[in-house]
Amino acid sequence: MEHHQFYEVLPDGRYKFRVDHHTLDDHNKCERYFNFRHVPDSLGLVWATKGVSLKVALGSWWSSTMESFYHEMQFGAVPDDATTARIAVDAWRENKIDDYKNLEPDVFDKFGGVDGAMLMALEYKQAFGQAHFQQWQIIGAELGFGWKDELKLGEDDKVVVYYGGKPDLVVLDRAQNMIMPLDFKTKDSVPSNAATKYKPHPQTAGYIFAVRKMLEQIQDDQIDSSHNDAELHLNLKAIAKMPKAPTKCVVMVCARFRPTDKPRSGIRAPRFLPVYPNYDASEIEEWRNIVIEKCRRLRDSIERSVWVPREGDSSCHLYYTGCPFRRVCSVPANIRESVLKADFVKIEPWRPYTPEED
Ligand code: SF4
Repeated sequence: MEHHQFYEVLPDGRYKFRVDHHTLDDHNKCERYFNFRHVPDSLGLVWATKGVSLKVALGSWWSSTMESFYHEMQFGAVPDDATTARIAVDAWRENKIDDYKNLEPDVFDKFGGVDGAMLMALEYKQAFGQAHFQQWQIIGAELGFGWKDELKLGEDDKVVVYYGGKPDLVVLDRAQNMIMPLDFKTKDSVPSNAATKYKPHPQTAGYIFAVRKMLEQIQDDQIDSSHNDAELHLNLKAIAKMPKAPTKCVVMVCARFRPTDKPRSGIRAPRFLPVYPNYDASEIEEWRNIVIEKCRRLRDSIERSVWVPREGDSSCHLYYTGCPFRRVCSVPANIRESVLKADFVKIEPWRPYTPEED
């Protein structure tokens, strides 16, 4: 199975899937949307909108900035202000954000351009730099997993499912001796429901499942490497000191636009809000079974080549601009292909990472 494929038919007739949060979420949102975005044509390409919005680009810039910021911490110190600002500017250039200045001037100006970028990074450092340096050991940033089939989620008589992803950070919380995945979410402002928005949430459950499973695999390998009772005893002692498997993860909700210093309510909204969704083992197991069930449905869609559109407010008109394929779905079926060819482009399908990045 090539890394760009998300499924293949096994010799025993079952479907082998490689899924991550985004592919499953898109199938949930609308099967037709999933077909456009994820089911490759004969050249292995899928449909996508032309260009990326500045808001999406700012999310990528912020992830790059945070990756470098926490990477600096791995060298043994909180980055100073000059380093933090430089990290923000370097990521700004790498992500070519200035290219959006004329394309989306309102959003660009509201964010504040490169000065706004430096300010956001410095505000984050001031809010969390020292605390996270003391609380956390940074295990890794942008660690991709699962696309080499190293994380089997489960199987039944219809499907064999592997799970993948790429959390922004994986940290060891020293006080709890617990490894936790962390993801940054950039929004215009921190939503009022941020504290409850990420549970239930398939991405947070998936990351906890993945880190738990990888920790278990390390422990199993250590036990298997024991050649005699003495070695086994030593290995079990070492395992007892290992970090606990996660029961929670961190979602760091970040506002793109700086909250006003003088709100009418008198209470300044936060620019950053850490949220800690937690799941017990039964909830993770329930999530795992749901993913297998979703993959069975996905197999059914592929086999019958039926992609049911989910027309309505919850999919077509969701968020500010709605589904990008509305202009395709709002015309008769016989001219949809023409609209796709005129207004969209073919690209490589989404994958959380390519194994070559390892
Ligand atoms: S416009 Fe609606 S029906 Fe069409 S792909 Fe988007 S969500 Fe699905």
